Amino acid sequence: MADLLQKLRSLAELARAHDATSSRPLETVIDAVLSPCEVLIGGRPTLMFGSNNYFGLTADPRVVAAARAALERFGSATTGSRIANGTLALHRDLERALAQAFGKRVAAVFTTGYQGNLAVVGALCGPGDFVVLDADCHASLYDAARLSGATIVGFRHNSVDFLARQLGRLPPGGKNRLVVVEGVYSIYGDVAPLPEIVEVCRKNDAYLVVDEAHAFGPYGERGLGCAEAQGVLGEVDFVVGTFSKTLAGVGGFVVSDHPEIEALHMLARPYLFTASGSPANIAGVREALAIATSERGLAERLWRAVDRMRAGLLGLGYRIGPVASPIIPVTIGDLRRTRELWRALLEEGLYVNLVAPPACPPDACLLRMSCASPHTDAHVDSALAILGRVGRELGVVPVRA
Ligand code: PMP
Repeated sequence: MADLLQKLRSLAELARAHDATSSRPLETVIDAVLSPCEVLIGGRPTLMFGSNNYFGLTADPRVVAAARAALERFGSATTGSRIANGTLALHRDLERALAQAFGKRVAAVFTTGYQGNLAVVGALCGPGDFVVLDADCHASLYDAARLSGATIVGFRHNSVDFLARQLGRLPPGGKNRLVVVEGVYSIYGDVAPLPEIVEVCRKNDAYLVVDEAHAFGPYGERGLGCAEAQGVLGEVDFVVGTFSKTLAGVGGFVVSDHPEIEALHMLARPYLFTASGSPANIAGVREALAIATSERGLAERLWRAVDRMRAGLLGLGYRIGPVASPIIPVTIGDLRRTRELWRALLEEGLYVNLVAPPACPPDACLLRMSCASPHTDAHVDSALAILGRVGRELGVVPVRA
């Protein structure tokens, strides 16, 4: 008889082989959040250098107060889809605020960023169309392209020439072409060359989606992301993003000057067939949006932490990515060695993200560190002291760098 569960058993065995100490090796349980940069794991205070809470707004008293007020006024959940009983004044207000912040005509809010990407790409493209994706795009963008039924065409990460060649090879005619890139890439923290990408899209009759999930907040004069920072916000057809990072909530959005995007509210299945974001969440995000786009001191503090952390890591002898970004990839080597270092850092009180295949090549596993505005010099220095001590003990960095 066929064994439906065999595939899951082998995956679980593979994961357990990497970590005999946990029943769920890929999961670290956080028992309490002490501050945006300190959590309690296994009873011990642990420095958090692996979250996407770029401005630390999850703990901002104004965000918490807005969420609490909405919780009391609207209750704990909407219990319905946006097209049924799930549209509160809060959702509409947030859509207006997002459109206004970006200077775009329309905005739509989704229950998660993942669903937002499915909704946008799926509504725009279908069988016969082409979705042209940067090779390093997030899984949600790949899934969105697959689910749309369009033909997927990849191009080498951040290579504008490769993109131009791929677009040039597509058959001429009326089929739609949608190019999909990210502002800042979520694992290596490198930035897309957006003006060149915009130009190639225009020359080749392609529309452009930019996912600013990790760029919203840190990049641009008003924190709107890489398109703003690179002066091409007006030329990007669709900006998508998430609330689950700088905006300190859960959800996703699209903003656009194409008024047709309004139709997403009527036809996008990942929007229609799921419950809308909870009141406290949406109200917290609305407050976080106002703070993130007006208080630029938050970005300055974030970049200060980035500079200090990068200099410290290089000084210790770690190999880090070349581009300064809130995301700092630290390349270690094979999975066993990387996992050993990751675990030892956690035991010493430092949490970072472990990145393993298929998210990276098997011999270039990495630790993904991320900095945030609430990280003080003292937090960064404490993290570096742990990285130095543990890295030397395990022979990952030289005893004297
Ligand atoms: N796009 C990118 C680039 C992301 O990194 C993520 C989340 N890591 C998402 C979309 C999905 O966002 P969400 O967590 O809101 O589903």
